[in-house]
Amino acid sequence: MNKEPVSRELFDEVMVPNYAPGNIIPVRGEGSRVWDQEGREFLDLQGGIAVTSLGHAHPGLLSALQEQSEKVWHLSNVMTNEPALRLAKTLCDHTFAERVFFANSGAEANEAAFKLARRYAWDNFGPEKHEIISFKNAFHGRTLFTVSVGGQQKYLEGFEPAPGGIHHADFNDLDSVKALISKKKTCAVVIEPIQGESGVMPADPEFLKGLRKLCDENNALLIFDEVQTGVGRTGHLYAYEMYGVIPDILTSAKGLGGGFPVAAMLTTAKVGASLAVGTHGSTYGGNALACAVAQKVIDTVSQPEILKGVNERSEKLRQGMMAIGERYGVFSEVRGAGLLLGCVLTEQWQGRAKEFLTAGLEEGVMVLMAGANVVRLAPSLIIPETDIEEALQRFEAAVKKLAQ
Ligand SMILES: *Cc1c(COP(=O)(O)O)cnc(C)c1O
Repeated sequence: MNKEPVSRELFDEVMVPNYAPGNIIPVRGEGSRVWDQEGREFLDLQGGIAVTSLGHAHPGLLSALQEQSEKVWHLSNVMTNEPALRLAKTLCDHTFAERVFFANSGAEANEAAFKLARRYAWDNFGPEKHEIISFKNAFHGRTLFTVSVGGQQKYLEGFEPAPGGIHHADFNDLDSVKALISKKKTCAVVIEPIQGESGVMPADPEFLKGLRKLCDENNALLIFDEVQTGVGRTGHLYAYEMYGVIPDILTSAKGLGGGFPVAAMLTTAKVGASLAVGTHGSTYGGNALACAVAQKVIDTVSQPEILKGVNERSEKLRQGMMAIGERYGVFSEVRGAGLLLGCVLTEQWQGRAKEFLTAGLEEGVMVLMAGANVVRLAPSLIIPETDIEEALQRFEAAVKKLAQ
């Protein structure tokens, strides 16, 4: 076994250069605290980008993982398995959904959603109804189909030709959707209820209601990409509940496994029927270990006191960040919902979000960016209040240094 010491420098020698990771290597985590190779401690407001929904080394997740690991890890979809069936039943019980497809990542869940939308329209209306409407700045993953549906041209550059039949409307602008949608051609409209990667930008409730109506009038499916907003992140199990708008397809990943790779596409029985035998699949999708862990995540996060706790923590964190923003003139607003918060940089600090991330690391707090103008926070949904207070102190020290 290779036990050679490794360092951050090795990254540049052995990895393709598509990421630019921070200059420490965390080796251990517990709750909302993480320690690096040198034993330095960090407060984690990154949450593995909205993934470690119950923090690190959560006892319930550890025992769920260990228990299942002693039974069966993997069977493939030639066989079904108990954890996958239980998790699918739980997801249906807790949401609008009646049918579930499991995958391993957000991009894969979205890939399944987009393929299903096309297949459903093909089954019911014919091949001409294949167009997908999404939104500028949207993020849906990095496979060629999902990156094409996503609304950031730079992620597609050099990878063309892209799949066709995709249009991009303006977020929160219903008229821009009206101009693109048609009964004849549109099979689906896909949206993140809160755009995550591109700056934590919430949709207006009236806009989502309008989308629902437009989709109904045009026999188009409404797809919510809740890869980032799902699993308690907004203080609701899924953000569609907060908006009171029910989609036809919903995708979930990130927080679903609490750090174990798993994703799900949720839909109705009527729509789901179009993924008939043999139309789609995934070797690992519905993996028994992954589903056992996700079960524990959903069972925990769906408890009303956990969801209520998200909103209480949100208030504390939001107010703390706003106060720092005002003291140093760095943030113009803190937006988002629950524990997905975006601190928007003022005019004077435009384009400098990465500096806050780096300065935070130096003071022992891990924060995220969402584009160059927003500092994003997505901590554990059960981060202790005292950790929030300490994280705010460390972050303030970082901002103070930056501002000097
Ligand atoms: C992260 C993210 C994805 C992609 O998920 P992966 O697991 O990285 O494939 C898709 N949609 C949204 C909204 C996301 O935040």
